[in-house]
Amino acid sequence: MNRMDADLLHALGDLDEALAILDGDFLVALNAPMEALLPGEPGGLAADWAEPLHGLASALAAPLGQRCRCGVSGEYVAQRVALDARHVLLRLQDERARLHHLQRQLDDREGLLFTSRSLTVSEMGSVLAHELNQPIGATANLLRGLKLRLARRHPDDVDELAALDKAVAQVSYASQIIGRVREYTQSRQPKVESLDLVALVHQSLALLDWDLQREAVRLELDLPRDGVPVQGDAVMLQQVLINLLRNALDALRLDRPDDPLIDISLQVAGGRAELRVGDNGPGITPQTEARLFLPFSSTKPNGMGLGLSICRSLMEMHQGRLWFTRREAGGCCFHFALPVLAAATNQPVLENTA
Ligand code: ADP
Repeated sequence: MNRMDADLLHALGDLDEALAILDGDFLVALNAPMEALLPGEPGGLAADWAEPLHGLASALAAPLGQRCRCGVSGEYVAQRVALDARHVLLRLQDERARLHHLQRQLDDREGLLFTSRSLTVSEMGSVLAHELNQPIGATANLLRGLKLRLARRHPDDVDELAALDKAVAQVSYASQIIGRVREYTQSRQPKVESLDLVALVHQSLALLDWDLQREAVRLELDLPRDGVPVQGDAVMLQQVLINLLRNALDALRLDRPDDPLIDISLQVAGGRAELRVGDNGPGITPQTEARLFLPFSSTKPNGMGLGLSICRSLMEMHQGRLWFTRREAGGCCFHFALPVLAAATNQPVLENTA
């Protein structure tokens, strides 16, 4: 084996995909996954090596770039790619592993969508209950006051008095329903589990990889090398992060800059971890800013305007904070902060309030 072949073999060693390098009719190098699948001796004839895997020998004769099914039930896909004038790289993909991986990704996505839908419904119930409680209470008081006045001034207007009684009963019924919704939503407390914020960022980005690619967004990450341990409900915190990322993607789609960018940084200071999600989109006007975290305020054609208000309440459930700043280079930045766990004891670090 010459020097170049040895270097190639070394480089191939770290890859997960099954790969081999061929030089004409000869096998030059195999990486470990290929060796596990189809053991072979570098220097031997490629056709002999390929023989045990049904269809691989003929795949070696197919034109470069062509994807050929092999294996007894076509479970592998072989493809040859030219490396240089002499060397050819053979890629052998196990379709079952790829499909299994794809299925797992789809299941994860579906799981997240389901959880985030049910969280949203529940949070929406809570927001609605909160918003409706006040006008309904006020209406009930007004109706009761009206009935008292009517009873004093016109005690014989029995039909009107009975109608007011019915109106009060209807409003009380609406208020009971709201009370039940509030009870239900308030009983849902966040889970308390130790989790790593850095891993959470990577998981959230993986769930949005299609959207990030489709919008051709450049990602800039500034994350600590070691994990950042915090305590909380992974699903809820991921929902916050995904909401912020989706808002950034929406902003970049609606008003596309030349070089769409999302920058994420995570820093730990004073016992708190602060995560920033910035984008170089159109930013936020002072009018929008004034209502940013209020429910039902949206500037999007189909927006519900609930995302940020829900995210803020999720952060508050975690003794955290969520806020907004303007990026110096244009666009905006959302920040969330959480107490970190002291790694040694796994206890939340107490804030220095002195
Ligand atoms: P929705 O996404 O349904 O509009 P949100 O509460 O998540 O609800 O967002 C409220 C509003 O905040 C959005 O309609 C938009 O005007 C503004 N906003 C949020 N994030 C961004 C961002 N990254 N860039 C520009 N505007 C944003």
